[in-house]
Amino acid sequence: MTNHAATGPRFHLQPELPVCQTDLPLDWYQDEFKPYAEEYMALPDRLPATLFRWLDRYVKPAQAHFGDSLLLLAHFYMGGEIVKLVERYGGAVADSYQLALAARNAPEKKVIVESAVHFMAEAIAILAHPDQAVWITNPKAGCTMEMLAKDHMVLPVADQLLERYGDALTTVAYMNTGGRLKALAGRTGGAVCTSSNAHQVVAWCRKQGKKVFFVPDEHLGRNTAHKLGIPLERVVALPDPRRGQIVLSQVGLERLDRAEMILWGSSCGVHTIFSPAMVRYWQERGYRVLVHPESPLETVLAADGSGSTNYLWNEFEKTPRGGKLAIGTEGHFVKNARSESATRGVEVVHLAEIPGSTLGGCGCATMSRNDPPHLAGMLDLLRQGHAPEINRVLAGDVMNERTMGRERLSERERLELVSEARTALERMISVVEGRA
Ligand code: SF4
Repeated sequence: MTNHAATGPRFHLQPELPVCQTDLPLDWYQDEFKPYAEEYMALPDRLPATLFRWLDRYVKPAQAHFGDSLLLLAHFYMGGEIVKLVERYGGAVADSYQLALAARNAPEKKVIVESAVHFMAEAIAILAHPDQAVWITNPKAGCTMEMLAKDHMVLPVADQLLERYGDALTTVAYMNTGGRLKALAGRTGGAVCTSSNAHQVVAWCRKQGKKVFFVPDEHLGRNTAHKLGIPLERVVALPDPRRGQIVLSQVGLERLDRAEMILWGSSCGVHTIFSPAMVRYWQERGYRVLVHPESPLETVLAADGSGSTNYLWNEFEKTPRGGKLAIGTEGHFVKNARSESATRGVEVVHLAEIPGSTLGGCGCATMSRNDPPHLAGMLDLLRQGHAPEINRVLAGDVMNERTMGRERLSERERLELVSEARTALERMISVVEGRA
């Protein structure tokens, strides 16, 4: 994780360039946040100096009030400049796994404010110490991959699979899941995984002779199977959950019986768009192509490298002057890399920006629902002691990002969930550290 206090800023705001952030309609804000949004929209411009003058009015008093107990966090994919703002105020910018560890590794931080999607805030809450409170600046910021793998969709299918395969089946839950699915992984002998260690976690399950139920990303599951040499006929992807209830007999019991991996049929709309034709386009022009493994298998195979968000950023930082990179991942991430690239003498393009494509620069729209007014409002309301309870995130919360409805577990259920989900997270750590 990068904390600029320790390493120097990773992102730079340029004084003459307006801060990039598409405005949200006013009615998208919770009532408590509307006054901040109105002020923001009335600013004469979005130049950093103007924006900071305004943000300082809210962020600085909150920092003075909470002192060292306040921790600001943002994900690499955050819309436009939030990463720069969070970093400017001493916060940390990281990928989802590193964010989850951030609170746990800093027990002195008691108020944790996250600008990213809900499952990430929940993962922070799962690992947090009991006296740490986790807040999300916008509870409507959901991950579309996770939104197609809610517990009420996945658990009935898991029950059918467990009924048929019993202990021979284990669940691997990608970080991009709610806590209830991480808990499923924990109680079925499985583990959580990230995009950088999915192959290690699945290999560990296979060593125990287990059939793997991989949730929720079909592409990462298939890419992992390929990396491990599992024949693709032994990999079964379940139907798109939007098509209705999934019944195993309709999927094909023989195929499922032969399968080494059964993949939940969700995917990330941002990464699914990348195609081998895009890869070839940039390679023919001398670019090295890097993609995230949430992209389809054929795209990953055509690219020069694939890996997690952190891998992509590190590869960018390692690229020597004069290098040319085409990166296939979330648009704001590429935009941030591109704005840093000028000072490094590296050329960066977004993989989808090819002639005739309308997909160039595609960003994670839901994550971008955290914007400067949400950050200002969250901190100001917390300082005043009036933060809306819906912005508080507890382990096991299931958010309906459309209606803002939330299902919350009882205290007893939550403790059970935390224990199972932590088991799954700790198994991942043991596998990666070679202890399992
Ligand atoms: S980029 Fe895709 S996987 Fe990541 S948070 Fe956004 S929708 Fe989810």
